[in-house]
Amino acid sequence: MSEKRILVFATHNKHKAAEIQQLVGDSFLIQTLDDIGCTEDIAETGNTLLENAGIKSRYVTNTYGFDCFADDTGLEVEALDGAPGVYSARFAGAQRSDTDNMNLLLAKLDGSVNRKACFHTVISLNWEGKEHIFDGYLKGEIVTEKRGANGFGYDPIFSPEGRSETLAELSMEAKNAISHRARAMQQLLKFLLEQQ
Ligand code: IMP
Repeated sequence: MSEKRILVFATHNKHKAAEIQQLVGDSFLIQTLDDIGCTEDIAETGNTLLENAGIKSRYVTNTYGFDCFADDTGLEVEALDGAPGVYSARFAGAQRSDTDNMNLLLAKLDGSVNRKACFHTVISLNWEGKEHIFDGYLKGEIVTEKRGANGFGYDPIFSPEGRSETLAELSMEAKNAISHRARAMQQLLKFLLEQQ
């Protein structure tokens, strides 16, 4: 492959796209939704992470014609039969408040001995007319009180397996070395680098 291939990351987050650009090198030009003139929020109407990632990547490929990948992440709690899962962002309501979400999860697990949980990221990639799926997982447990100020979402109440800290007590580098999203992205990268 000699010329730069455009690959859209179905996100409005330039920072996320820049990270991937650095990893894939010069053979691919990573574009965000805004870069290709898509300023809307693509509705995540699926009932699973896989459906939502696919909805976003297919929308871009079908509407704009580009190869594209999209990600979707959820926190799956064993004692809650996998909830909040695909509804992680709006667990406590449409206001999408991290604090409300964490408080609700802590309340639901109050008194629960089983606090096992897992972050799960799914990436859907449309590449040359075919969809490819990549997964990343991070196992751990929900602690009883919020700890730490780094990260976002459920990080202050999630402690990864084998560590005493919560994700919010880890540096960004330490989190990125083990995170569900990083693991799924590594699978995607491996695939893309094999295409060169
Ligand atoms: P998204 O699919 O990346 O937008 O993630 C959906 C929701 O899952 C977010 O709004 C957060 O509540 C939660 N989430 C995703 N990734 C993380 C993470 O790395 N740490 C904590 N919470 C996360």
